[in-house]
Formats: sequence, C-alpha cells, structure tokens
Amino acid sequence: MKPTRELPVLNAMEPIVIQLFEDNYLKERALVCDCDRCQLDILLLALNQLPPKYTSTQTGEAYIKALYLNPQLKSDILKVLTQAVQVIENNPSHP
Ligand SMILES: [Zn+2]
Repeated sequence: MKPTRELPVLNAMEPIVIQLFEDNYLKERALVCDCDRCQLDILLLALNQLPPKYTSTQTGEAYIKALYLNPQLKSDILKVLTQAVQVIENNPSHP
C-alpha cells in the first residue's frame, strides 16, 4: 500500500527521545553494547511505547523545545528509555 499524501507532520517525540538517549546513555557510555543496531532497537522500542506528539513541520522546533523543558515528560521518557535499554541488553538482536 502506498501513502496517498505526504503531510508536513513530524512526531516531536523522536528528536526528544534521541536527545535524551544521547545525553544519558551515549555520552555517559552507559550501554553494554552501543553498536548502531542496539541503538536503533532501543530507540524503536522506546518510541513505540511512548504516545506520539505530532506537530507540523513549520511550528515543530518551538513545540519540541517547549516539550523538552517539561520535567514530567522528561522523566516519563527516561523511565521508558531505561526499560528499553534493559530489554535490548538482555535480548540483543545479534550474537
Ligand atoms: Zn549491539
């Protein structure tokens, strides 16, 4: 099935989750395995568990910044990220 229309929308959760992942795991070297595959698996698992927050690509940046400054949202995302890291570290999709 082909998408019939391209909407100028983005999920604001994506850049926020990626940013928090980089700050709290990559920069801290906190991962057992930090290969591209594990990083992607962790991000996908976390993003699938978080409700998407769609915005238009035009107002996206301001919206993302406002969300990023919300401490409650940040702690919710970090909780989900921490769980995702544990799941992937226990079951990496490579030997
Ligand atoms: Zn790996």
